[in-house]
Amino acid sequence: MSSPASTLATHLRIVLVRPSHPGNIGAAARAMRTMGLHRLGLVAPHAFPHREAVALAAGADDVLNAAVVVDELPAAIADCHLVLGATARRRGVPLPELDPREAARLAWETAAAGGEVALVFGNERTGLENDELKRCHYAVTIPSDPAFSSLNLAQAVQVLAYELRMTLPDREPLAPAVKTDPPASSEQLEQFYEHLAQALVDIDFHKGRSDRTIMQRLRRLFQRAEPDQRELRILRGILGEAQRMARIAREGRTP
Ligand code: SAH
Repeated sequence: MSSPASTLATHLRIVLVRPSHPGNIGAAARAMRTMGLHRLGLVAPHAFPHREAVALAAGADDVLNAAVVVDELPAAIADCHLVLGATARRRGVPLPELDPREAARLAWETAAAGGEVALVFGNERTGLENDELKRCHYAVTIPSDPAFSSLNLAQAVQVLAYELRMTLPDREPLAPAVKTDPPASSEQLEQFYEHLAQALVDIDFHKGRSDRTIMQRLRRLFQRAEPDQRELRILRGILGEAQRMARIAREGRTP
């Protein structure tokens, strides 16, 4: 798949069927824009354009301004090769089901092959009608609690748009969280433990108690932390300084 991500996304559209609340249209536009989607189709919106849509779009005005408004679903998807219907529950229409990730992958595959893709969402109260679902190739269901399975319309758009983002073929890999120095070898760790054990003696940490259990616990702590070489050098620097101060104290002189 060689097409740049932004070109691929032009093959994708989000279609809201009979949305009742203009605020949801705005919130859906915002959800799309944050995930790099721009094409919004509206089928018989109850109120649009509307100031609530603009308010909830929070700056994604370009998506709202370019929205294509039609009267019936067929007009919104006429040129599509893949139509995915988002639905919270199984309907009377026997459609193959996809989870959001599978749906996103299929969407990108279709887009990469030059196909047009629509993700269709239903009305807030009634969802997609059976007639509308019949026009879809697949049903997409966001996994949810069966006893409370219906997401807010714009949030459902956000989840599917997020999956599209996550499966974007040309997505830049994330930079490693922290750039670490080379990990400490087991030999370096052993030398550190020896130094630590000696330092604990030198600063009279044990005061007659068993040093074995302490050292076991400390070893466990440092194994868990997986220190790198630089971190070990810092720790050994601290131990060295503590030993130096202890020596000075023992000899009764001022540092
Ligand atoms: N009572 C309606 C709920 C509609 S919610 C129903 O049962 O269908 C508005 C739209 O958000 C739905 O039509 C669907 O497109 C989408 N949606 C909400 N929850 C969803 C879920 N769990 N999985 C997929 N789409 C969902």
